[in-house]
Amino acid sequence: MDLLSKKARGIRPYTAGEQLRDRKYIKLNTNENPYPPSPRVREALAAFDAGELRLYPRPDADLLRQAIAEKEGVSPENIFCGNGSDEVLALSFPAFFDPDGAGACFADLTYSFYEVFAAFFGIPVKMVPLRADFTFDLEKMRAVPCRGYYIANPNAPTGVGIGRAEMERFVESVPDKIVIFDEAYMDFFGESCALLALRHPNVLVVKTFSKSYSLAGIRCGYAVGCEALIAGLRRMKDCFNSYPVDAVAQAVCTAAVGDTAYYADATAKVVSERVRLQAALRGMGFTVPESRSNFLFAGRGRRGGGEIYRALKEGGVLVRFWDKPVLSDFVRITVGTPAQNDVLLEQLHRLS
Ligand code: PMP
Repeated sequence: MDLLSKKARGIRPYTAGEQLRDRKYIKLNTNENPYPPSPRVREALAAFDAGELRLYPRPDADLLRQAIAEKEGVSPENIFCGNGSDEVLALSFPAFFDPDGAGACFADLTYSFYEVFAAFFGIPVKMVPLRADFTFDLEKMRAVPCRGYYIANPNAPTGVGIGRAEMERFVESVPDKIVIFDEAYMDFFGESCALLALRHPNVLVVKTFSKSYSLAGIRCGYAVGCEALIAGLRRMKDCFNSYPVDAVAQAVCTAAVGDTAYYADATAKVVSERVRLQAALRGMGFTVPESRSNFLFAGRGRRGGGEIYRALKEGGVLVRFWDKPVLSDFVRITVGTPAQNDVLLEQLHRLS
């Protein structure tokens, strides 16, 4: 007897990057930050009173929302917090799309979780191919009959970014549709659309503590939007889990978000290594779209991505590979510390 539902039997879940613990790898496969979080995080953890764990956390993460609002230049009513930006994105599907509606539009090559969320919630999907240079075809997307859009900016896994001015023109051209910007990697680009949410009621911007804040282990993400959109997310949250952000995460993220100087420095280091790595990879004959994120999408015709992935793994360097059309020519490489990147380059030289 199969006790699973049709959905549990039929759905194809998202495959997260490997989190291998069998040996020590140089881990450049899941876009984590190579630098530790702000020292204020350690202080917040040390100061955290374990006795507090007896109680449920603040259901709407009030203090954290206030700290995020200050940083983003909006008010706490414009912020929603979730258990990782994946959860915020997941809740956005039932909050803004209907199974019998016009559906969600996104690029054919983008964060593959959107397709899984849409399938899970039964939301129709309209995919628009990226252009040959891996940029979004916004003209085509604008013309698609749909309820709204998911735009990862910078995009994953390509790393390509679009400036704020162009995004604002897009948002203004589709006033009746919601535009959800997934800005997981935006701090490495610096063109956030968060403030557009104050001027445009159809804009929702989703961010995370996992990448630029070096806090992937704490699982916290947030959305910035007008009060009506934030209320929609909150309604969905309270249908699943009233307390998605635990008390430790709230304390840690509140401490981290205030340390702008520390994170500006860490981000600058990652960006400078990205520039160096990108030039080195191109010099070795790789095709690498201009990256605005903390990773590089690198392909070389004569060796498939799979071969590079396997050879690097053997040498103790993990990168991300997808055995799928188009993607299988490429690997996605997270920017590491200078020393880690040197090992990567050395191994790639040996392969060529
Ligand atoms: N959006 C994009 C584009 C991502 O690559 C990721 C990380 N896999 C996420 C969202 C989710 O990040 P998190 O749930 O750690 O906030």
